[in-house]
Amino acid sequence: MSAAFDETCIFCKIGRGDFGTEFVSESDRCLAFRDIDPKAPVHVLIIPRDHVRSLADLNDPDLAADLLHMCGEVARREHVDQSGYRVISNAGEDARQSVDHLHFHVIGGRQLGIGVE
Ligand code: AMP
Repeated sequence: MSAAFDETCIFCKIGRGDFGTEFVSESDRCLAFRDIDPKAPVHVLIIPRDHVRSLADLNDPDLAADLLHMCGEVARREHVDQSGYRVISNAGEDARQSVDHLHFHVIGGRQLGIGVE
């Protein structure tokens, strides 16, 4: 299920500018901002402006491409494209998704752990 805006969603509100969050990158349909609890020197979240609950609800290939494109752009902007970085999207309970608005974590700036857990 997706709707353009969810009044109960913190990331929708960030996207609307309610908290004056500084955006690392912006496009028509996506935006990027720093994680409030960074796990590495670079930890940026890339989200669609519209409310999409998770990857499980993403049915728009163009939006999927825009989101992934922004992940790469953010990595370049943050100067981790050469050193390396990880892109993660937690979807649903088993993955421990904690904010129900689709987001990709771009994490880098240090040597990350082995594996995907
Ligand atoms: P996940 O566990 O994959 O759903 O990731 C949600 C991420 O959102 C976590 O890394 C949180 O630190 C981050 N987060 C939650 N609230 C905010 C906020 N207001 N601004 C920036 N990042 C946030």
